[in-house]
Amino acid sequence: MQTEIQAVRTADLSLGQGEAMVATAVGRQDDARPTRSRVAPLLEGALRRRGLAVSSGPLQAVPSSKPTDPVLLAAAYTPHGAAEQTAAVAVAPDDRAARDAVQSALLELESALRSRAVLLASPRSFCAGVDRAIEIVERALAQEGAPVYVRKQIVHNVHVVQDLERRGAVFVDELDEVPPAATVVFSAHGVSPEVRSAADRRGLRVIDATCPLVTKVHAEARRFAGRGDTVVFIGHAGHEETEGTLGEASDRMVLVENAADVAGLRVADPDRISYLTQTTLAVDETAEVIEALKERFPALRAPHSEDICYATTNRQEALRAVAADSDLVLVVGSVNSSNSRRLVELSTRQGTPAQLIDDASEIEMHRLREVATVGLTAGASAPPQLVEQVIDSLAGLGPISVKERQVTQENVQFALPRAVRAI
Ligand code: SF4
Repeated sequence: MQTEIQAVRTADLSLGQGEAMVATAVGRQDDARPTRSRVAPLLEGALRRRGLAVSSGPLQAVPSSKPTDPVLLAAAYTPHGAAEQTAAVAVAPDDRAARDAVQSALLELESALRSRAVLLASPRSFCAGVDRAIEIVERALAQEGAPVYVRKQIVHNVHVVQDLERRGAVFVDELDEVPPAATVVFSAHGVSPEVRSAADRRGLRVIDATCPLVTKVHAEARRFAGRGDTVVFIGHAGHEETEGTLGEASDRMVLVENAADVAGLRVADPDRISYLTQTTLAVDETAEVIEALKERFPALRAPHSEDICYATTNRQEALRAVAADSDLVLVVGSVNSSNSRRLVELSTRQGTPAQLIDDASEIEMHRLREVATVGLTAGASAPPQLVEQVIDSLAGLGPISVKERQVTQENVQFALPRAVRAI
């Protein structure tokens, strides 16, 4: 790869020490059609990891003799016979450290150039509960105007949250941050009865975006506790869904996170015991915990139907269908997304390394060096366009063939709550 360094003159571009601007497209001043840079997100991430403050946007490479104008480090390359690609970054002219970082990032990019296959897991990305929760906030904004308050992240994805914030949603941790009489949306993960009472006390108008499949588990918790059972909840401590469900019958419910926890369980009556689970657990690990519970408590009663939801189960099945034939699996999802993290763990348990990425900028290019086949999926809260962005970025590193492996079709839809249905 040949890297060319030149001065550029761009009317509104001014860069300080430690700053860089990655070109999403590069052109000359008279170019009607600047060349798009597919690898821009990959370079952005590589430069951030090298400590630079990075922005991005289209850049014009216009020769300049002004010593204060930024310089453009640009590389044109033709990966393995594919169409020519461009990578370009502007930095301040006297910023030697930034230039070194750009050169090092371009070398990393060069090391990842090759043709590859992409195995796309299906189903992936948004589930019906997440679609519904986002639409509820959008409709509340259209109905009432900004701001609309949302308790906790509406779904666990940084891009979804930032997008809704830009449109006027205000995310709060607790209800005392919501002005009296304002509207508040409860997130898809559900809330405990205590939170509902607190909203009543503050006179808030509540729109409930709890996923109906989480609501089902809450109803089971109330029913099982009401018949006198100790209810063992298999889930992750601290997760909002766990806190909400445990709150339904806190004096009769106990949390176990794994099979090892079962040995230490103390229950009032071992003949009156049932279990429920978080909706986004790993199917195989949960089966082990249930087995351990059954061994210790033969009278254990199960919910009528699986609590692990269809979307979690399907994404894990689809992951299995691609992981075995992949050298690396990329899972698009945020770090606090339970179902996304389970996909990473499942792939690793199957023997295929996996990386959780919020978007293409988090792909570590050096990890792609030996990777001929990339498995690609996304957790239930990750927007589908981020998967497209990953595919586009990989195509900037060489010719790719994309094959989808679909294990099942999803056609689940949930009705909206009455409060926002009229729009
Ligand atoms: Fe509902 Fe399952 Fe989606 Fe969670 S992952 S919002 S439980 S459908």
